[in-house]
Amino acid sequence: MMPAGIAPSPAPAESVAGLPTADFFNFESMLNAGEQAKLAELRVFLAREVAPFAAAWWNKAEFPAHILPKLAALELSAPAQRGYSNLFAGLVIAEITRVDTSLATFFLVHHDLFVESLYGFGSEEQKERLLEDAASLRTTGAFALTEPEHGSDVAGGMETVARRVPGGAPDGGDSWVLNGAKRWIGNGTFCDYMLVWARDEADGGIRGFIVDATLPGVSRSRIENKIALRTVQNADIVFKDVQVAESDRFAGINSFEDTNELLRGSRIMVAWQGVGQQLAAFDVARQYAVERRQFGRPLAKFQLVQQQLVTMLGNAVASMGMMVRIAQLQDQGAADMPQVALAKSYVSARMRETVGMGRSLLGGNGIVTDYRMAKIFADAEAIYTYEGSFEINTLIVGRAVTGVSAIV
Ligand SMILES: Cc1cc2nc3c(=O)[nH]c(=O)nc-3n(C[C@H](O)[C@H](O)[C@H](O)COP(=O)(O)OP(=O)(O)OC[C@H]3O[C@@H](n4cnc5c(N)ncnc54)[C@H](O)[C@@H]3O)c2cc1C
Repeated sequence: MMPAGIAPSPAPAESVAGLPTADFFNFESMLNAGEQAKLAELRVFLAREVAPFAAAWWNKAEFPAHILPKLAALELSAPAQRGYSNLFAGLVIAEITRVDTSLATFFLVHHDLFVESLYGFGSEEQKERLLEDAASLRTTGAFALTEPEHGSDVAGGMETVARRVPGGAPDGGDSWVLNGAKRWIGNGTFCDYMLVWARDEADGGIRGFIVDATLPGVSRSRIENKIALRTVQNADIVFKDVQVAESDRFAGINSFEDTNELLRGSRIMVAWQGVGQQLAAFDVARQYAVERRQFGRPLAKFQLVQQQLVTMLGNAVASMGMMVRIAQLQDQGAADMPQVALAKSYVSARMRETVGMGRSLLGGNGIVTDYRMAKIFADAEAIYTYEGSFEINTLIVGRAVTGVSAIV
């Protein structure tokens, strides 16, 4: 039963009237005026178009494709190309996550993996052909790396193969034939294009291909029954003798190292999701603690409740501080993989503690999505695992600081 006076879906990303926001050190003030105005515009969009509906989409596991034109109108794709800072790009992901982690994941897969891959590794012809529609979300993309039998070890274990066929294309040029399977591919059920990573049968090198999702031989099925990011449509995808033109191969990808460069960028954005999750958990828990009464007084009056709220806030602020420094290192072109891995593993661990406290602070209401916290709590599990699991990122740092690899 809903306690009197508590709205089931409190307005996100807002402080309780007169109280400070979860960005307690005001990192947002480090943005320039234009970026702050754009973030405010994003917040209006999220409050109107996303917040009231996010729990229903999640419950029904439905992706809200109808909001994409309005999201595109904010012109947030490829922030570096638009002159935005790395801090702004990170805060955008945190802010979308703060309202709906699933939408942030859609955004991240499409923009930070698909669109950024085109910018980084696409030929001029590929950019000309694909970028404009992708940047404005008239087409959507996916990033297909993980396989049913290879997640953490996909670099060495990749089983999807590509075979070059000289003269195989209708115009007499070379083509490729792809065979294999991918798993967990976000946006995979509905995307127009997917970036598929495969091992070249000739030399064992990793190649990247832009695959039109409607090509013969591509079959996709939705992964059902998820307990996290239910709004995101993850797919199992099978490639059976799929013919791809040489002009759809990424000329710039010749090894897993090239792929790693992309993953470093998206890993930073996933760590920012860990920040957004904590801001959201604090927002919801603080509002609940102030409004919910037990023993004739608000929960906020109890010292143990205040201690948990302050721990949550401290976790969020420490995570944000780390990410702000990562953004500065990115600006200098100096954010290396061990630093990014430390950020992802540290923020994920803090996030798990923060959302756990938040969930318990809502008592029974913490396990129903009507109060937002249950969704935040569950979505944390996906962030903990994807873009390099907590353990793998920890071991990347362990290797860097000891000179000894404990991964294999
Ligand atoms: C919601 C969601 C969305 C995703 N979206 C995409 C996507 O769009 N595209 C894509 O390509 N992939 C995607 N993934 C896949 C994701 O990147 C993988 O789940 C992740 O890399 C882990 O792989 P795995 O699930 O196969 O786990 P495994 O690699 O099987 O690991 C299982 C457990 O063992 C641990 N482990 C493995 N190896 C070691 C080791 N050497 N030392 C210590 N511990 C170890 C892991 O940390 C983990 O706890 C997504 C996953 C999820 C859950």
